[in-house]
Order: sequence, then structure tokens, then C-alpha cells
Amino acid sequence: MDSAEYERKIAARFATFDQDGNGYISREDFSTAAAALLAEFGVTARSEKGQALYSGAEAFWQGMAGIADRDGDQRITRDEFVGGAVKRLRDNPARFAEIARPFLHAALSLADGDGSGSVSAPQVERALRALGVEAEVASLTAQALGPVTEDQVLSAFASYFTVPE
Ligand code: CA
Ligand code: CA
Repeated sequence: MDSAEYERKIAARFATFDQDGNGYISREDFSTAAAALLAEFGVTARSEKGQALYSGAEAFWQGMAGIADRDGDQRITRDEFVGGAVKRLRDNPARFAEIARPFLHAALSLADGDGSGSVSAPQVERALRALGVEAEVASLTAQALGPVTEDQVLSAFASYFTVPE
């Protein structure tokens, strides 16, 4: 991968986390993501699934901040993301899976309306679109994945964010 391609991918990953688009990643981005998923799947914040999603989002934020927020100002800048998160997650994808798992678990249980333990492609597409992924990319990704289980989502998620240089 040339450096322009690498930069483009990193920018896309950063934008995925920066849900409100204000130029840094903070706790609000994670609660924004949780709220968007709840709205998409028609689940209230105070329901059991809603509570699980918000607590997963908080754990995800804490984990990311622990890895990347070097100056401790509760914001992860693009520089902190590139220098901290991307490198450390690439070195240790299992760590990333660990911090993302409660949020992804809760998100999957929202999307898995019938509790079958796997999520169909159209449900994956709805979740991705709710998180701001472009419609075309969301559709292609969902079709490529087919019905997914939690382990598959975790490993797809980890490989998406652990961008090779
Ligand atoms: Ca933000
Ligand atoms: Ca910071």
C-alpha cells in the first residue's frame, strides 16, 4: 500500500469513529453511535438492550481513550488516533476485540431481532448505514459478509481498523 492509500484509509477509519464530525473522537461520538443504532432498530435507551448498548459504548470509549488519549483531555485527535490507536491496535488486534466486544455484542443483539444468534445481511446493512457508512459501501459489505455471528463481526471489525502499513 502506498502512503496516500494508507492516509486515505486512516482518514476513513477516523471519520467512522468521529460520528458527529467535529474533528476529534470523544465520549459523545460513542453515545451518538449508540443512539443512532437504537433509533434504527426502534429500541428505547432505557430498555435492557438499550442499557447494554450504552454501557458497551462507554466501555469502548474508555478502552479507546486508554489506548490513544495521550494528553488525557478526553479527546482523541487525529494525531493521537494515528500515533496511538492505529499502531497499538495493529500490534494487538486481540486487545481491540476485547474493548469493542461489549458494544458489538449489544449492537448485534439489537439487530438480531429473533435472537437466532446470527444477523442477516439486510440487518447488517441497516446497522452500518445507521452508523454513517455510505449506502453503497454498507450494502456491498453486508452482501459480502452474508449472515454473521458475533465472532465474525469482531474479526471483521478488528481487521477493518487494524490497517496494515
Ligand atoms: Ca467527534
Ligand atoms: Ca487527547
